[in-house]
This record gives sequence, structure tokens and C-alpha cells, in this order.
Amino acid sequence: MRRFKEDRLLVATHNKGKLTEIAALLAPLGITCISAAEMGLAEPEETETTFIGNARIKAHAAAKATGLPALADDSGIEVDGLGGAPGVYTADWAETPNGRDFVQAMTRTWAELEAADAPYPRTARFRATMVLAWPDGHDEVFAGAVEGQVVWPMRGVEGHGYDPMFQPNGYDQTFAEMDSSLKNSISHRADAFAKLVCCFGEEK
Ligand code: IMP
Repeated sequence: MRRFKEDRLLVATHNKGKLTEIAALLAPLGITCISAAEMGLAEPEETETTFIGNARIKAHAAAKATGLPALADDSGIEVDGLGGAPGVYTADWAETPNGRDFVQAMTRTWAELEAADAPYPRTARFRATMVLAWPDGHDEVFAGAVEGQVVWPMRGVEGHGYDPMFQPNGYDQTFAEMDSSLKNSISHRADAFAKLVCCFGEEK
């Protein structure tokens, strides 16, 4: 595995919620985190059908454009009663002519489960795939997940995206009811990040 030896890392996301979470995870490592928005980077089109494919597109586009190593994350929620949907299309389910509306996306998710008469618990997982890409085209991939169930009605106001309808296994709160430090310690992104930090350590 290639080691990360630089002191600046570009975080290739335009999603403020994800950026805040990744910056919080990176802070203890003493690495300066620069956002794609700060660098004025355009958001590339996510044309792949897998989390890894889309994370690669974002990480390589940012590394190539800036000459800096870039970290991208592609994530989403897989609901078993919907055959794994929305999956890589999680953000797309929230698209409206006026921007993203996650209440609409969550309402659709629950309505489709009801229409399918899906059994309880309505199991689901968040997945996150992180790709760390270097300007020379090399990359390293780290995949994480958190298992749980989707619940209705939505509960909580913290977090972002689908947090109000996702209850991780072992907890009676949704992600949106949790303190961000708790969510950040058990989330799919934390799981992927725990694998990523091996890249920042000394060679064994
Ligand atoms: P993308 O990775 O930017 O393509 O979008 C992934 C989408 O998945 C986000 O827009 C959110 O809707 C959803 N998502 C990913 N991670 C989380 C999370 O931690 N909480 C809630 N929703 C999430």
C-alpha cells in the first residue's frame, strides 16, 4: 500500500456535511485539509454504477486538476426491501428542480417499502468508499459500512441526508438524533477511514 507522506490533502467533495465529517476525522492526524470548493473545482459527473467507480472519478479528477493528492468519498444507503436501492443513486433520489430534498427522498423510500409490503425490521446499510488518488494516477481504495434499519417517521435534526430515517444496529436513536461525535465514531465513513489511516502511518 502506498503511504501518504504529504502534509496537504484535497478533499474532493462539494457536500458540506461530508466535508465536515471528513475534516473532523482528519484533524487529529495534523494534515491540512483543503476543500474542492476552496480550489474552485467543478464537480465531475458520476457516471459509474458502483461506489468505487464514482469515488475514483472524483478523486482522480481532483488530483489531476490540482497536482495534490485527493480524497473522495462515494456513499449511499442500500435498503434490502428495495433490492439495495437507492444505493449509488441515493443523492439522485433527492434531486428536484430546486436542489436536493432529502425529506422527499426519504418519503419515497418509505412509500416504496410500504408498496412492497417489506417485512420488519427494514434492514439497510450505509456504505462509503473512499479513494485516495495521487496526481501520478495511483490510488488506494477503502470501503466501509454500517448496518441498521430504516424507520418511520423520521426522527432527529442532526447530521445530513438520510440520517433521520437510519437507525444503526445496537442503538435506539437514528443518526439524526445522535451527537455528531457518536455518529462519527460508528458510521460507514468512520469504518472506511479506520482503514485509510493505515496509509498515514509509518511503514511496518
Ligand atoms: P454522493 O456520495 O455524494 O454521491 O452521495 C451520497 C448520498 O448518500 C448523500 O447525498 C446522502 O444522501 C447519502 N449519505 C451518504 N452518507 C450519509 C450519511 O452519513 N448520512 C446520511 N446520508 C448519507
